[in-house]
Amino acid sequence: MKVSIIPEKCIACGLCQTYSNVFDYHDDGIVKFSHTDSLVEEVPDNPDTLLAVKSCPTKALIND
Ligand code: SF4
Repeated sequence: MKVSIIPEKCIACGLCQTYSNVFDYHDDGIVKFSHTDSLVEEVPDNPDTLLAVKSCPTKALIND
């Protein structure tokens, strides 16, 4: 699945990483992918990752 990060929308709530370790944070708490600073990644299909994306309160994570 393709996941996009929109850092401008992230409020650093810390929720997404509780669902999926695909996500990590910059020092200021803004979301990033764990293994790259890219904003768009093809990640393995995984219910936990999908839940993390769907649970983001500001839609800073997009599955398209
Ligand atoms: S759930 Fe959304 S707002 Fe919260 S840290 Fe993750 S990307 Fe940012």
